[in-house]
Amino acid sequence: MAPYKKTMTKACDVCGKPIKIDQFGNGKCKNCGWVNDKPEFTKKANYPNFLSLEDAKKSLPRGEKTPADL
Ligand SMILES: [Zn+2]
Repeated sequence: MAPYKKTMTKACDVCGKPIKIDQFGNGKCKNCGWVNDKPEFTKKANYPNFLSLEDAKKSLPRGEKTPADL
């Protein structure tokens, strides 16, 4: 079994669209570009998002992309 296979779905932490995630909760949202991760990794800016979840929620609904997309 590939451990990073995206076998589950959840609502994106930032925009709420359904995304596919692996067993560790990792998955990139195709809608807003946020890379979903465990909450302890998204409280502060951290690779690969370079924004905290709080900041992403403020900025991404305006159509900006996360630095992970650049
Ligand atoms: Zn999203």
